[in-house]
Amino acid sequence: MKQAFIIFVRSLFAYAALTLAVLAFWFGSIQFPTPGPQKLRLWEASAPLVVVDAGHGGHDGGAVANDLTEKNTALDLARRLKTHLEAKGVRVLMTRDKDEFLTLEKRAQIANDAKAAAFVSMHLNTSVEDANSIHGMETYFCAAKSLNTIRKIKESFQVPSNVTLQDLRGKQLAEVIQRITCQRVSAEDRGAKERSLTVVQTTTCPSVLVECGFMTHKKEATQLKEESYRDRLASGVAEGVCVFLKAQELQPKRGLQLTEPKSVTPPAQVTAQVTKN
Ligand SMILES: [Zn+2]
Repeated sequence: MKQAFIIFVRSLFAYAALTLAVLAFWFGSIQFPTPGPQKLRLWEASAPLVVVDAGHGGHDGGAVANDLTEKNTALDLARRLKTHLEAKGVRVLMTRDKDEFLTLEKRAQIANDAKAAAFVSMHLNTSVEDANSIHGMETYFCAAKSLNTIRKIKESFQVPSNVTLQDLRGKQLAEVIQRITCQRVSAEDRGAKERSLTVVQTTTCPSVLVECGFMTHKKEATQLKEESYRDRLASGVAEGVCVFLKAQELQPKRGLQLTEPKSVTPPAQVTAQVTKN
């Protein structure tokens, strides 16, 4: 009996060993695909489109201070922003890529026609009264969009016309741009500010106007003349835009405040009580 058990155990081991050998051979003969360079998948659906606007242009030079002309520095920053956004897989459309004049309405229309995911206008600031002390970055947004713009936003998100809509997406975009860029270039954070400027008021997408620094401030003007500073600044704005777009992709209605109309309750039924004498 004991002999038979030993033979059984031995044959069991032999069988297991044979099975392992066959499996090893089989797997060995299989050609597993070697991992190639993996394409970084940044965006779940199609890559978002960002409209980048270089402020001023042509006969409108913008402000001039400390040997800087706003239209030229804005264009340089806009081009750098385009490069950094494209490196992150974002599609970019420039409102202007040369020294030409465009009306503010035209700039907004380009973004609206392209159904952009975001609009970023690049500008430079000046301070006449306090040129020596005022410096830093500030970004403008508009929560009080024009009525026509609100109507278009409602249409695209299928929001009923009787629902009140407040668009705070621009505010969120402005805040993230400020936070990341000011940290990156160690600029003073002057904050995200509400301002009814045409380009941010009439664009249906989340839109901001970035004032990238004060040309009137000597030290900041010197920094703005440095290529590496402008490049870091543009990379900060690009990262802010991408952080915003990622959050927006996960939650498309993020930043849209909807207020349902108050339901009108019918007057309570008055039942006359007749007292019989
Ligand atoms: Zn400007």
